[in-house]
Order: sequence, then structure tokens, then C-alpha cells
Amino acid sequence: MYRSDPYASSPGGVRSMRTDPTSMDRANQVTRSVVVLPGDGVGPELMQAVMCVIDEAGASVDWQICDAGATVFRDGIASGVPDETLDAVESAGVVLKGPLETPVGYGEKSANVTLRKLFELYANIRPIRALPGIATPYSGRDIDFVVVRENVEDLYAGIEHMQTPDVAQCLKLISRKGSEKIARLAFALARAEDRHKVECATKANILKLTEGLFKSTFESVAADHTQFESGHLMVDTCAHKMVVAPEDFDVLVTTNMNGDILSNLAAGLVGGLGLAPSANLGRDVAIFEAVHGSAPDIAGQGLANPTALLLSAVLMMRHIGQHEVADVVENALYRTLEDGTHLTADIARDADPVGTDVFAGAVLDNFGRSARQLENRTYSPLRMPDVVHGPLGEVSRDLTGVDVFVEWKGNADALGQSLETAIFASGFRLSMISNRGTKVYPGRIGYTETVNHWRCRFAWTERDWSCVDAEILGLLNRIGEIHRWMHVEKLQHFDGTPGFTLAQGET
Ligand code: NAP
Repeated sequence: MYRSDPYASSPGGVRSMRTDPTSMDRANQVTRSVVVLPGDGVGPELMQAVMCVIDEAGASVDWQICDAGATVFRDGIASGVPDETLDAVESAGVVLKGPLETPVGYGEKSANVTLRKLFELYANIRPIRALPGIATPYSGRDIDFVVVRENVEDLYAGIEHMQTPDVAQCLKLISRKGSEKIARLAFALARAEDRHKVECATKANILKLTEGLFKSTFESVAADHTQFESGHLMVDTCAHKMVVAPEDFDVLVTTNMNGDILSNLAAGLVGGLGLAPSANLGRDVAIFEAVHGSAPDIAGQGLANPTALLLSAVLMMRHIGQHEVADVVENALYRTLEDGTHLTADIARDADPVGTDVFAGAVLDNFGRSARQLENRTYSPLRMPDVVHGPLGEVSRDLTGVDVFVEWKGNADALGQSLETAIFASGFRLSMISNRGTKVYPGRIGYTETVNHWRCRFAWTERDWSCVDAEILGLLNRIGEIHRWMHVEKLQHFDGTPGFTLAQGET
């Protein structure tokens, strides 16, 4: 059944393979180039089966098979993605990707992250749908929603520092523009999939500026989409609700870290990561992949389940406008799962398990049939939305002070007194010191356990505000003579609103 040789990856090269016309009429379809990254472990065998099913469904696709991942790392390319592959991705704009191993001990980066960052794939789309024939504690609950996860910002910007030998910091970056892009995409997706509700999950009650910016940006975008029901959930409430009432969700948009956790939780509700498809979307490039990894323990044995990669390919076919192909494959896959007679070991119920090829063959045999227990969704093309509001225009800005982070092994009072002495007659006042976010000076320290990382907040006390910037340098010099400082953060007000939070206990 399988045309094994033509689909095999060619190490180091890019190969074009035009598919032959098959059973369906595709006279009006434009042939699209699709880069294929077979990936590592079970990737190549799954990819071969999936490409075959997609071809047989009548796709007009020109597959460009390229390298990325383990072999590339072993060749000494630290990004895991060679330039020829990057060129091919840039030119095709659409990628079907197998799992890429992240090397431990060699190579510098994850090839997945390289692709995501280089092509600004800012949206991770994870459809969560109860599959027919897959028994879970939630079977019969009609779970059908989409998690839209911001994919490049937040803690995953990967900006980390050891600020002292004992204290690590990671910057959580949330931008107004990044938040608007993902919020607009969530509404565009709701429109394309004929959904009615878009909810946003954040931790804005605690992270008032970062998660708060995401929430307020979502709310301003929601105001442009009043035809949809919209709302906000605290992310912890959201996790609880997802477990007790998952059928209530429709589209859920959230920040990168929240989305990472919630989308895996959601996948668990409907059968696990092994069945979960995903799309990574940017303005110019889209990468479709199964959520699972390379499953090295079963690689090369023809045992792996192709469902997740096949569903990812279905998303891809919709993305490139070949909806008929997507529908045929999706229906046949659902029918195969529902029949339950040709299933791989991970999902086989009472029947004997089959291998990847036999499962894929059963899907081919079910072309033209629909699942009996699952209603088809209707999809229209997803249009990548434009940013409308964008960054704020001119804002007034007052620099009112500075936080200086100091490494110090003593206690809070001793640090406070040494700083008071150091800044005498400087124009700055030491307004407070906090440790791990709690105010510890002046006043009672209570039960707060301190570490060698202190935030010392200085307020400018003079009338002349124009010189604060320059005076901060003088302040640092004074502090630097007696303490080791490692980080400085200006205290700014934008249009009169503080651009910083208070410490716990600070008034
Ligand atoms: P994994 O590859 O997802 O495998 C975990 C287990 O899940 C496997 O041992 C296997 O369990 C099962 N499994 C996964 N996919 C399956 C499939 N299609 N059919 C049947 N069973 C399947 O996770 P991992 O072992 O943590 O990661 C392995 C490598 O993959 C790592 O190098 C990791 O970095 C990489 N990875 C890549 C991506 C990506 O490219 N997007 C994502 C995740 C991980 P059994 O023991 O039951 O056979």
C-alpha cells in the first residue's frame, strides 16, 4: 500500500515530490508546497503513513522533505535546523512536522524552539475534542473546545539570570502587541469554526501588570467582537472548571505558561497527548505537528499511533483551503476509531492491536464514511487578523525612583541602615526594602525568611525631576562602594499610573 521509498527523508537535502491525482476531483485546487520534517524516533514511520493517507484523499500537495532534529544536531548544527530547511520553510510557508528530539548534552537549542522563534509562530492552537471510540472518564460529555496559547512571549522568552549564587530570576515578558495578536486570533478562530464563546484565562489578580496587560488587552479586543460571548477566568479557577465541566468551554485564550499546562490537561481529558494535534501559526509560516514526542521506546517497530499526526495534517489541509480532503480524512479516522477493530496498541480495546500501517490502511478503507457518534463541525478559512490597536501612542512618563537589587548576607536592619548612610544628602530616600516580594524594612520583618537577594526601593525627593536619570548613576556608585548590586529597575509612571507593583506590606 505504501510508496515507501519516495516518502523517505533524504539526509541533508530537500526533495520535491508531486503527488499523483487520485480518487477525488481536485481540478480546481491549487497545488501547495508543504515542507515535511519527518523528525526523530517514531516521526518518519508516522509521517510516511500520514502522507499516504493525505495523498490518497486527493490532496494537491507538493511535499518538500527536509531535515531537522537529532541527525542535524549530530552533524554539529547547534540550532538543529539546517539553512536549507529554513529556506524551504520560508518559501513554502506550511510545514508538517514530526517530533524532534531535544538533545541532552550536545546542541545548544531545541529545534522546535528554533522554528517557533525564527518564524514568529505566535499562536499554538490545540483542538480538544472527544474522539469516538476512545474511552475516557469523560466519555459522552461532548467535549469540543480549542485552546489558543500565546507561543513566544511570557516566561518562554527564556530570559533568565542567576542574580546571586543562590537566587535565579526569569523575566516574564508580556507585550500589548503580542497580547492583541493572540486575542484577535482567538476571535478569528471562533468565527472560522462557528463557535460562540471566547474566554481568557490569566492570573491577573496576582500578576497585575503582566497577566493584567494580557487580560485588559483581551477585554479591549473582545469589545470589538460583541457578536461573541466573552469572559475572563482566573487560571486556577479555569483548571478546576476544565476538570469538572470541560463541555462548557468553546475557545480559551491564554498566556504561554498557562497555556502550556492547560492544553496538556485538556488533552488528558480526551485521551492523552498521543492523540492530540496542534498548529503553530504565524503570519507567514504555519507548522502542524502532533503534541507527542519521538517515543524512542517504540521507534522503528511500526507500532506508533498516527492519529495525532493525521489530525494535525487535517488542520493543515484546512489551513491551505483543501477542506474536502480534510473532511474525508477526519471522517474516515473517526470512523476507524469508532469501529475499534484496527487500533494501535495504545488505544486498542478488546481487539488485537495493529501496527501503524494497518491502522492507516483502515482509515483509507473508511474514506467516504462518517463517524456515527460524532457530528461534523463546519469550518471556514481562518484569516490571520491584523493588529488594530497596537502599542500606545505618546504617553506621559514620570521617573519617580529606582529599585536596586542588592546581594547581602546580613539582616534587613543592617542593610537598611548601611544604605541610609550611603545615600545621605543624595536626593533619594530609601522608601523600603523587600525580600522575596515582602517588605522587610523599615518595620517588623515578621516570620519572613530572607535570602541573599534584596530589593531596595529609592524614591526621588527633590523638586527637579529632569535630572533623576543622571542621579541614579550617582546612587549606584554610592551603593556599589559598600554592597554588590546586580539589577536595577526604574520606577516609572505612565500617564500618571504606576508602572510597578508594591511589595507585600508596602503602602
Ligand atoms: P513522548 O515521545 O511523547 O513519549 C512518551 C510515551 O508516550 C512513549 O514512550 C509512548 O508510550 C507514548 N507515545 C507517544 N507517542 C505515541 C504514539 N504516536 N503512539 C503510541 N504511543 C505513543 O515523550 P518523551 O519520551 O518525553 O520524549 C521523547 C523525545 O521527544 C524527547 O527528546 C523530547 O524532547 C521529544 N519531544 C518532542 C516534541 C516535539 O517535537 N514537538 C514534543 C515532546 C517531546 P509507551 O511507553 O506506552 O509506548
